[in-house]
Amino acid sequence: MSTFVDLRSDTVTQPTAAMRAAMMAAPLGDDVFADDPTVNALQARIADMLGFEAALFVPTGTQSNLCGIMAHCERGDEFIVGQLAHCYRWEGGGAAVLGSVQPQPLQNQNDGSLDLQAIEDAIKPDDAHFAKSRLLCLENTLGGKLLPFDYVQSATQLAHDKGLYRHLDGARLFNAAVAQAAQTSKTAQQEARRIAQCFDSVSVCFSKGLGAPVGSALCGSREFISRAHRVRKMLGGGMRQSGVLAAAALHALDHHIERLADDHALAKRLAQGLQGIEGLAVEAPQTNIVFVDLHGAARQQSAALMAHLQESGVRATGLYRLRFVTHLDVDAAGVEKAIAAIRAFFKA
Ligand SMILES: *Cc1c(COP(=O)(O)O)cnc(C)c1O
Repeated sequence: MSTFVDLRSDTVTQPTAAMRAAMMAAPLGDDVFADDPTVNALQARIADMLGFEAALFVPTGTQSNLCGIMAHCERGDEFIVGQLAHCYRWEGGGAAVLGSVQPQPLQNQNDGSLDLQAIEDAIKPDDAHFAKSRLLCLENTLGGKLLPFDYVQSATQLAHDKGLYRHLDGARLFNAAVAQAAQTSKTAQQEARRIAQCFDSVSVCFSKGLGAPVGSALCGSREFISRAHRVRKMLGGGMRQSGVLAAAALHALDHHIERLADDHALAKRLAQGLQGIEGLAVEAPQTNIVFVDLHGAARQQSAALMAHLQESGVRATGLYRLRFVTHLDVDAAGVEKAIAAIRAFFKA
């Protein structure tokens, strides 16, 4: 392990030696001609795993969501989405800018969900005054929170009953699946599929907890994916020998799903290790993200705390609300180091 522990994001992981070997060994072609065998294998694999007809490999989760929204919606349509959702708040307004698709954001509740009545009330009647309500977008996990599965079922059923399509931003779908599997007798793969099957389309990231260097996949019906394929080209996302990247994602699907439970356990340990420090409110993590809010005197010390962490070889993000993310390149010693650095700062 390196001398610092990087808890800024689960995107910072380096490909493992075995993943690099898989990338080097991958048979390649030109994916714009649809003849990269490794990309084709990945697309078939993730579609099959999540129970869809087809999938599309894209460079980023942002592009995946945008391809999804633009494949579901036309100019003048709208999508209902959470204020905190990545595809509303963190993607440069791409759906509006590039798709002429209007977002209808709703307040997220504490557990990350959108109130069912609020969703229903936001769906516009078919009237020339209004944009056409076309799509509901949910995110799971959102801010590290697992959406309750019965909520996912109710919200997606409601949207379906009202004639809306359903898209899941499942950048961390496998974290959600592993956390959900811990509550049921099913496997993480079964839970991932159960969640995914509530939706018409699902985006998953390989570059987060799964530990691949690059890439996401959008899954849906064959017809939907063929529309998304056209959008991907338009957005500049048609790649060539991208099998070298798809090989990393395939390796991650084979080897890095079950181990997400280790990240979740380390997040719990981190949260537990920070209990009882005055001015720190630690949210109990459900998956791999720990949020710590600073109050009172601790809030005044926040810039000094961040500088102290940096000097102590602990990287995190935030100022008054700190975010620590566990992942493949964080081990138990790294988490203990972070706990010790924070306790030393507060002399706690
Ligand atoms: C990271 C992330 C994305 C996509 O991010 P990219 O950096 O574009 O790959 C989308 N949605 C969520 C919830 C994310 O966490």
